[in-house]
Amino acid sequence: MSCSAFGCTTRHSNESAVQFFRFPSDARLKQWLVNMRRDTRKCPKKSRLCSSHFEDISFSQTSRSRGG
Ligand SMILES: [Zn+2]
Repeated sequence: MSCSAFGCTTRHSNESAVQFFRFPSDARLKQWLVNMRRDTRKCPKKSRLCSSHFEDISFSQTSRSRGG
């Protein structure tokens, strides 16, 4: 398994703590694609995105607001 993000070479391994996530089917998908720099018109159904890209993604609706 490998990450679908542009330029990302992260692969799943037992040694790394990286996690892979399926793409959402709602509006969050667009934000995912923006973050991973992919064409938003192409929906990667079978793709996965590694946790390295989730620092700026609010994939959890419960933690959208931060201080600042
Ligand atoms: Zn990645």
